[in-house]
Formats: sequence, C-alpha cells, structure tokens
Amino acid sequence: MTALTDFDRVHLWHPYTSMTDPLPAFEVESAAGVRLRLRDGRELIDGMASWWCAIHGYNHPALNCAVEDQLAKMAHVMFGGLTHEPAVRLARTLVDMTPAPLQHVFFADSGSVAVEVAIKMALQFHAAGAGRAGADRLLTIRGGYHGDTFGAMAVCDPVNGMHERFASALPGHFFLDRPAARFGAAVESREIDAAEQMMREHRDRIAAVILEPIVQGAGGMWFYSADYLREIAALCQRHDILLIADEIATGFGRTGRMFACEHAGVVPDLLCLGKALTGGYLTLAATMTTERVAHGVSADGGVLAHGPTFMANPLATAVAAESLRLLQESPWQARVAAIERQLADELGRYAQHPAVADVRVLGAIGVVECRQPVDVARVQQRFVEAGVWLRPFGRLIYLMPPYIIEPADLRRLTDAVALALGD
Ligand code: PMP
Repeated sequence: MTALTDFDRVHLWHPYTSMTDPLPAFEVESAAGVRLRLRDGRELIDGMASWWCAIHGYNHPALNCAVEDQLAKMAHVMFGGLTHEPAVRLARTLVDMTPAPLQHVFFADSGSVAVEVAIKMALQFHAAGAGRAGADRLLTIRGGYHGDTFGAMAVCDPVNGMHERFASALPGHFFLDRPAARFGAAVESREIDAAEQMMREHRDRIAAVILEPIVQGAGGMWFYSADYLREIAALCQRHDILLIADEIATGFGRTGRMFACEHAGVVPDLLCLGKALTGGYLTLAATMTTERVAHGVSADGGVLAHGPTFMANPLATAVAAESLRLLQESPWQARVAAIERQLADELGRYAQHPAVADVRVLGAIGVVECRQPVDVARVQQRFVEAGVWLRPFGRLIYLMPPYIIEPADLRRLTDAVALALGD
C-alpha cells in the first residue's frame, strides 16, 4: 500500500466495486507493447488488452504520433456546425471497411452511448412513420451485455445484468433464451421456431433485435452458432424488424474476422463499434446504419435526437483512423489465427481439470470457465506475483491479449491460468 493506493481505495470507484469493501487496485506507472509496468517496478504481461481495446499493444509509436500531431492542431472543437478532417477520414474508413449498405456514421463517446444511439435510431425510425407506429420495444437474447446506461442495461441479461436492482426504471423488452448451439455447431430448429413465434406474436411492438454477434462478452463469454445468427437475421428481414449488431467487443478482428457478423454472412441494419476502434487510446464509439434507417429516422422531418458534447472528438478520431490504418496494413488475420491455435492448444489441457467446467477459444479470445466463482482478489494477487495481468470475473478466466503478443509471452499467460485453479 502506498499513499496513492490508500487515497484511491477511500475515494475512487473502480468498475463494479463498492466503496465499503473495494477490491485492491495496482498502480500502473507506464505500459509498452504487451507489458504493464507497476509503480514498484514489476512488469506484467497483459492478457486483457484493457478489455478488448489495446489490439496493437501500449505506447505504440504510430498511435502516439497520431495523437501528438492532432494535439498540435486542436484537441477538441464542438461538432455542432463544425467538422474536421480526422472525423471525416475516420468515417470514410469505416464506411469503406464495413458492408456496403452501412453508409452513415454517428460518433459517440463510449460503447454504451453508441448502443443508446442505435436503440434511439431504431425507435425513431418506427415512430417517424418509416416503420410500425407502435414499435417501441426491442427483442434480444439472454446472456447479452450492451453497456451500463439505462437503455443499454435494459437489453442486458435480465439475471446478471442489474435488472433486479433497477427493474422499475427499465422498459420491459422481449427476451429469447441464450442460443444453446455453440460456435461451429448447427442450430436446433426449436430455437429458431421460438424466435419466429416471438417475432410473429409481438411484431407490432418489436422495433429491432439487438444482439452481440457470435460472442456474448461480459454476459458470459459464450460463443454461439453462426447458423443461429444467420437465421435470426433472416427472420428479421422476413418480419421487417431491424437488426442491431453490437460489435463493440467483437469488432476489428478479435474473433478472427474483421467483424463477427462475417462468420454468418450477415449485414445488420445498425452496427455499434467501440473499444478497439482507437486501439485503446481514447474513448470513442460509432453507430453505423443504412440509408433506409438514416432517412427513415427523419421521415417526419425531425432530427436524430442525440448530440454529445465530445462527439467526434478530434484526438479520438485521429488516433482511431491511425489505428485502423495500422490494423489493415498488419498481418492481423495471421496473428489472430496463431493466437487462436496457441490458446486452443495450451488452454485445452485445462479441460480435464476437476475445477474446470469448459474451455473455449475463438480467434484471439480464450475462456476457461470454472465450476465455482473465482476469488478475484486472491487470484489477482497470484497472477501479479507471476508477472501476468489477467482479470477473471464470476466463474470465468479469460484471455484476450493484444494481437502483437509473442508466443513466449502468451505461453506465460496460459501457464498462469493454473494458478487460479489451485494447482
Ligand atoms: N457492448 C458490448 C458488447 C460491450 O462489451 C461493452 C463494454 N464492455 C459495451 C457495449 C459498453 O461499452 P462502454 O463500456 O464503452 O460503454
């Protein structure tokens, strides 16, 4: 404990912690490549990419340069009535790299806000007269996670997604069961029948389906069948229900494809992006949509009712544009595929461990699901002592390192998992 961590402990909230009984926080002094350097000099190999973000590693010269160059011009200007080159350049890149129908971009300041904006677009599309007048609800699947703001929270998993605490303040949406079929498996027709029945029964109310394609992240790190996604997308089309793909976690190569929707050949009506968008440098997210939705939102002559203060922040859009350039010019597919092979190989050996319920790997994501909840404080300490940064939650120990990680460092991460299993 130092004076700094003492102050932190008494005065600062960290994600999902209590002020009365906080979990310990380690002071990071600097970070470079895949290493976090603690104040006491210890170095940790990063297995989290700061929650899906730092795909190129930390302190990257090209990304640093992009921020510095932009800083010399302007850090921020309002986006109301003004525009700037980094925002337009980034929007152009996003329009080019996503499926052709996604032509319109709204820059938001966090993933949760991008989800709020997507929901707002879908509801406004219907309310403005472009869809069904009474369609003011969403359909989603259990086990999802879309953010912590109220609109997003209402479509998170109802059991582990804070619904109970805020039930009276949340709109009631429609929920389907979590897809049972794993990634790579065929979907059972009864799951699709249930979805179809729900859509048919409540079509007048359902404005859109919102889901995380292929990988449900913070709701349980579950990888589900591409067939399921394909079938849901087809049902949406058949019933004229919009499809919102939340690729905030999965976007930009993490699952082995640039966007997870590609595993199913699906093009959503709305796409939410964030996290790795800036390579983990600054907070920025985007909601993209089609001409039909973008124009439908204003079918009654109205405007899209959203406009954050830091919309399209120049520093964030500049570093995002550079991060996407780096990504597209890097051999990311080969890197993610190599990480996938190594994770499958090295985490696979835990599958038979008595404390382990399941091991699954997709792209640069590896998950070891334990039978019992992990004692985070105790296990975290052991990981830090072993020189790795992994942050379990619930029963899950998961790895999603920067794409630039070397095999020897990845090996240290996969070896360290044993420390959480009591070996
Ligand atoms: N959607 C998904 C799929 C996410 O994983 C997250 C963040 N964990 C969010 C939305 C919310 O993003 P943010 O934390 O930037 O608000």
